[in-house]
Amino acid sequence: MSRFFSEKYKDLEPYVPGEQPQDMQYVKLNTNESPFPPSPSALYYASEAARPANLYSDPDCTQLRKTLAESYGIGAENIICGNGSDEILNFAFMAFCDPRHPAVFPDITYGFYPVFAKLNGIMYREIPLEPDLSIDPARYIDSGMTIFIANPNAPTGKLLSPIQIEGILATNPENVVVIDEAYIDFGGISCVPLIKQYSNLLVVQTFSKSRSMAGARLGFGIGSEELIADLNTIRYSINPYNVNSYTAALGVGTLLDPEYTKANCATIMKNRKMFTKGLRDMGFEVLDSAANFVFAKHPLINGQEVYEKLKENGVLVRHFAKDRIKDYNRITVGTAEQIDELFGAIKRIWRIR
Ligand SMILES: *Cc1c(COP(=O)(O)O)cnc(C)c1O
Repeated sequence: MSRFFSEKYKDLEPYVPGEQPQDMQYVKLNTNESPFPPSPSALYYASEAARPANLYSDPDCTQLRKTLAESYGIGAENIICGNGSDEILNFAFMAFCDPRHPAVFPDITYGFYPVFAKLNGIMYREIPLEPDLSIDPARYIDSGMTIFIANPNAPTGKLLSPIQIEGILATNPENVVVIDEAYIDFGGISCVPLIKQYSNLLVVQTFSKSRSMAGARLGFGIGSEELIADLNTIRYSINPYNVNSYTAALGVGTLLDPEYTKANCATIMKNRKMFTKGLRDMGFEVLDSAANFVFAKHPLINGQEVYEKLKENGVLVRHFAKDRIKDYNRITVGTAEQIDELFGAIKRIWRIR
C-alpha cells in the first residue's frame, strides 16, 4: 500500500476472481463460463454492426435494450445495460443502500456482495443459510433492508421459486429487492414478469454464463422505470460508455439467435444430470443444482486437497476457504469430454473405481 492510499479504502479486501491461468491449458471448470463459443450470429453482428471504434459507443445501448425488451416482453425503459452484471450490482448497492437501508444477503452467496457493500461504506447483515445450505425466504420477511439474493444461489446452486420470492417482495414494499439471476437460464423460473407488479424488484442478469460471453462483459438490470432511472443517475456519474460497441453488437446478435442459447443450456442441463450422478457414484455428496455448476464434497477427502490435487493434474475447480463450506468444491458443468477428463483424474488420484 502506498502512503497515498485513501483512508476510505485502507481496509478493503477486494474480490478474488477465479484463476484465469495463462501458463498452460487446464480443463477449466472453476469460473462457470460456457464451454461453447458465442453464437455465430453474435460474431456476425460484432463484425458488421458494431459502431466504428473512432466513435463513442451509444451510451443508451438503444438497439441492445430494444432487442432485450422484445425478448423479455417488457419496455426498453425497464432495462439498464452494464459492463458485466457485476457493474449493475455495484450500481444497485450505490443507488439503493444508505444508513436507513443497509444491505442484507445470505452468509454464503456471491462473494462480491460484501465487497461492494464495504467499497461503498454500506452497513450489511448476513443471514445464515439453513443447515442444508438452502435460503429460507421467511427470514427476509419485513427485513427493513435492501435485499440481495442470487437465484439460483452461488455457490450452492439452490433455487427459490417465484412464489417464494414474491413473498419477500410483498413484505418489503419500502425496500428494493435485488434478484441476481446469473444462472436462471439453466432450468429456473425467472422473476422478470414480477416487475410489472412490484416496483421494488430489480432483476439482474448476465450474458456471461448461458450466453457464452464472459469475456465480452455484458450484464443488465430489469425493473420499474423509476429504479432504472436511479441506476442511470449513478451510471452517468461514473461512465456513460460502460458498454462498448463490440460487446453491445455481440449481445444483439446473441439475442437474435435464441435457439443457439437454448440448445447450449439444454446440453448443460443434460450434462449436469450425468455429472451429478457420476460424482455421487464416486462417493461425493452433491447438492441438487439449478445452475451450470455443482457444489460437491467427499466425506473422506479434504476440500482444499481436492482442489490442489486436481490442479496438479490439469483440472481447475473452485474452492472457498470459508468455514461452513471449506469441505466443498464448486465445479462448472462442462462438455461431456471435460467431465470425462475430470472423472478420469479423480479416479487416478484417489484410486476410486
Ligand atoms: C458470474 C456471476 C455474476 C457476474 O457476472 P458478470 O460476468 O459480471 O456478468 C453475478 N452474480 C453471480 C451470482 C455470478 O455467479
